[in-house]
Amino acid sequence: MRPIFIFDYDGTLVEIANTPEAGIMPDIAKSKLNALVERHPVSILTGRSLPNLKYAVGEGLSPEIILIGTHGAEPLEEIHESPYEQEWRLWSELFSQEADLVYEPKALTFAIHFKAHSNPTDMIAKFYSAYRGEYTQLPSQDFFTTKFRVQEGIGVFELIPQHINKGMGIDYLHAKFPEHQLIFFGDDLTDNYAHARVNELGGRSYQVGYRLSGENRVAQEIIPSIADVYAYIEKQIA
Ligand SMILES: [Mg+2]
Repeated sequence: MRPIFIFDYDGTLVEIANTPEAGIMPDIAKSKLNALVERHPVSILTGRSLPNLKYAVGEGLSPEIILIGTHGAEPLEEIHESPYEQEWRLWSELFSQEADLVYEPKALTFAIHFKAHSNPTDMIAKFYSAYRGEYTQLPSQDFFTTKFRVQEGIGVFELIPQHINKGMGIDYLHAKFPEHQLIFFGDDLTDNYAHARVNELGGRSYQVGYRLSGENRVAQEIIPSIADVYAYIEKQIA
């Protein structure tokens, strides 16, 4: 069976950065992915919005590589209109007194980056209070808990609509390439939805790094580091 290679972005193809504006893809990485896509289908499946992913990869990445944003909800086409614009604005206002927070309002999800904040534990507690509707500045009590799930990453707190997860991106690619074996690489909790779907569909799933272990690891195998992901790619293009 011919493979299709699918990569998460942050923590899988580039080092985790402090802000969404960082994490720019180096040229050497692009040349390896470009060589890979000459042989097999390749996709990048990320939690970043599609415009943000395009910004991070910049010029020089082959247009043959299928970019999928917002955890699988943005295959190919960018979503411009946000149904949650007002709610994201209220969140930003609620935490406007806090220093060192970076807001990333996307069309469908809302991320707050707090890696640089002096008291991250305190911030996480406040985010959950807001999520549970404990602040009168936000919409009614169960608005967020019924519509969204919380995805905690490394220094990032994100609200994601209940129906959106990376398994959607896998399903999209599987429908497009039904005869190919899905090979997925991801490093974080959000990738477990993709790992699980890839496992169900008879593919291969690789956990990048040791962040998830025990019950938290869904992937079949571990790849120790980002450098090892590129070593794997090198073998495919040799
Ligand atoms: Mg990642």
